[in-house]
Amino acid sequence: MSVVILGSGQLAKMLAEAGTKLNLPSVFVITPEISTDPVAGLGEVLRHESSADAATLLAELDSVDAVTVETENTSSELLALLSTNYPVRPNTASVVACQNRENERQLLDDLAIPTAPHQVARNNDEFVAAVASIGFPLVIKTLTEGYDGRGQWVIDDAEQWRDFNKASVTLPVLVEEKIHFAREVSLVGVRSIDGSMQFYPLAENVHVGGILIASFAPASNVSEALQQQAHDNLSKIMTHLDYVGVMAMECFETEQGLLVNELAPRVHNSGHWTLDSNVTSQFENHMRAITGLPLGTTDADGPTLMLNILGEIPDGVRDEKCQFQLYDYQKTARAGRKVGHLNLRYANAAALLNALQQLETVWKNPFIQQLIAQLED
Ligand code: ATP
Ligand code: MG
Ligand code: MG
Repeated sequence: MSVVILGSGQLAKMLAEAGTKLNLPSVFVITPEISTDPVAGLGEVLRHESSADAATLLAELDSVDAVTVETENTSSELLALLSTNYPVRPNTASVVACQNRENERQLLDDLAIPTAPHQVARNNDEFVAAVASIGFPLVIKTLTEGYDGRGQWVIDDAEQWRDFNKASVTLPVLVEEKIHFAREVSLVGVRSIDGSMQFYPLAENVHVGGILIASFAPASNVSEALQQQAHDNLSKIMTHLDYVGVMAMECFETEQGLLVNELAPRVHNSGHWTLDSNVTSQFENHMRAITGLPLGTTDADGPTLMLNILGEIPDGVRDEKCQFQLYDYQKTARAGRKVGHLNLRYANAAALLNALQQLETVWKNPFIQQLIAQLED
């Protein structure tokens, strides 16, 4: 019995830790150049040069319950090949649908799920036409491999468009309206082999420069209609794909309701709060779903705040006075890199304020200072 995880980053680490709790050992299958620091000591690591090579490596394992991914940017060729012998969950088609923004929008359009108005541009003429038709402000996005806001350009007006170095962008791209949203929310759901589904409460997410820095869960002031719209959308998507495992749906909340921004066919950063709430974590539920175990509870009975740590982990958050729970991904410090996160489950606003004030003494961070100011008001 084992779960094969294609990857060795922090998501693979947290999946494997959940697997250990369930007596499900993990094997990490990765390409040669990738660091295994986050998963050190958590299971066997197999490195493969090619897809065929990976299939051979898996054949040497005693048994494989399921193969899963930590990123949508996993070779579709590898997934398709492994699917012939092993249960790949989520299935290859689901991962492929989320690898490319054009495929993803096609899926959402087919299911009549609202998104920001968008067009794909394949050549210069189409690029110019798409910009004219969408209008300013707009966002240009590469179709593949973007994450944390990389591969995106915001163009606010005609002047910026004139000055924009169009030659620096490799076509095709997605051109979409810049949405003036009230806030960003995400829904993490899980679907089991028998088709049953569970959803965590919506989380409210704060992004700075395209990178997630904080999630509040459950999001405040969520109407029943909003939660329902989110559930309906994600259940439609997961059912349509015959999806198995955890999936996340990132949305913009607008006056007209939710617009889906993107899908993640995997556990998601905006679901990290589930590690310190009264619910079954997204990692455990993913491992449960892909191995056919019953799903665990997803109803939170109190609020949790998750803060991403970018660049380097401040020493003081390791101090026992810090009320936040630290998750250290064991990654080398690098500017802008997600190296860990902090979770705090709190009873009320006063408790949150107190924990943030303590945190601020060891981590000088403008977002934390801003939160404190808001809470002190
Ligand atoms: P992730 O790391 O979540 O995969 P990504 O690089 O794939 O990120 P998006 O999720 O598409 O990129 O965008 C990152 C962030 O940029 C969004 O969460 C949002 O804050 C902002 N953004 C993206 N598209 C738009 C838009 N059309 N209108 C307004 N803001 C946007
Ligand atoms: Mg993305
Ligand atoms: Mg995103």
